[in-house]
Amino acid sequence: MAGIYLHIPFCKQACTYCNFHFTTSLRYKDDLVKALAQEAKAEKAYLNGEQVETIYFGGGTPSLLEIADLQFLLSELHKSYPISSDAEITLEANPDDVTKEKGQAWKGIGINRLSIGIQSFFEEELRWMNRAHNAIQAKQCIENSYAAGIDNLSIDLIYGSPLLTDEMWEQNVKTAIAYDIRHLSCYALTVEEKTPLHKNILSQKALDVDNDKQARQFLQLMQWLRSAGYEHYEISNFAKSGFRSKHNSSYWKGVHYLGLGPSAHSFNGEQRRWNVANNNAYIKSVHTVTPQREVEILTSAQQLNEFIMISLRTMEGIDFNKIENGWGEDERKRLKKDLVKYVDSGLITLNNDHAQLTDEGMLRADGIAADLFV
Ligand code: SF4
Repeated sequence: MAGIYLHIPFCKQACTYCNFHFTTSLRYKDDLVKALAQEAKAEKAYLNGEQVETIYFGGGTPSLLEIADLQFLLSELHKSYPISSDAEITLEANPDDVTKEKGQAWKGIGINRLSIGIQSFFEEELRWMNRAHNAIQAKQCIENSYAAGIDNLSIDLIYGSPLLTDEMWEQNVKTAIAYDIRHLSCYALTVEEKTPLHKNILSQKALDVDNDKQARQFLQLMQWLRSAGYEHYEISNFAKSGFRSKHNSSYWKGVHYLGLGPSAHSFNGEQRRWNVANNNAYIKSVHTVTPQREVEILTSAQQLNEFIMISLRTMEGIDFNKIENGWGEDERKRLKKDLVKYVDSGLITLNNDHAQLTDEGMLRADGIAADLFV
């Protein structure tokens, strides 16, 4: 099985914290759509004929594309790849783009899952983040999706911003629960270098994030969502039974995927590669025999480190049998020995040959994973 990701690098306006690749100019939108179709055709061999189970339009803001653009891209994919009849086809959408009519049209062309960047239901926070939508649209988009017959919704929420009190956070999460949202992705606000937020903090126009508050809000989140019947299947992701993201889960399981578009990443088991993060350079080079991209062949040690990092973030944790099958018995022994201090300090538990992070351990996931690397 395999997945295909398409990067749509356009947004209405720039959110202050964002470091994804996008532009607010739609000038080259048509050229970019054609280039995506061209790349899809040219890269046909990358997935080696594997059945495609998931397609993901990410960005940027893919909901800015016309229905005809999305339909064209899907039909081009069908020409070059074997796509399962029940493939999960996700469109990332911004709340201000989600009307009932658009929802029906998306459904009509085969999109069966929306991932909506709500981030907060509070007007003051949305303004602070410079989001393109308002608090009314944050709720309206959910109602419009349901009215259009799209129940398989994921929403993104951000915690730990300076404006977000614990009471507001509780209200954000409980609003999502009340709407019976099937899947939630919740991220701590991260201050990335060179973003407007970073500059605002440096010039003291914005308050910095408070790490203690972020940790507290993450612990609260886990408690509320577990009590509401969600599976916490990856550090940032929660789902009702049967509604885990198949596309994102395949990244975590090492399933092969092809990324199309500027800045998109691909992985075929042996190499990882990523396209140039520049729309013009991408559009020009996709026509040539040497498209602009970087390629990295993973060593066995890099593959092991990646496996440790990714699986530690999941509910299933690190599977020692997989470690032994992939990297040998010595690696299994080494890892078990290195884990002892985390088990003793209550950050990791061992169950049936799996090592899983405890709630407290999740707060330190990156550091623990790095310490376990070969
Ligand atoms: S809509 Fe998404 S991709 Fe676009 S600027 Fe905001 S966070 Fe970044």
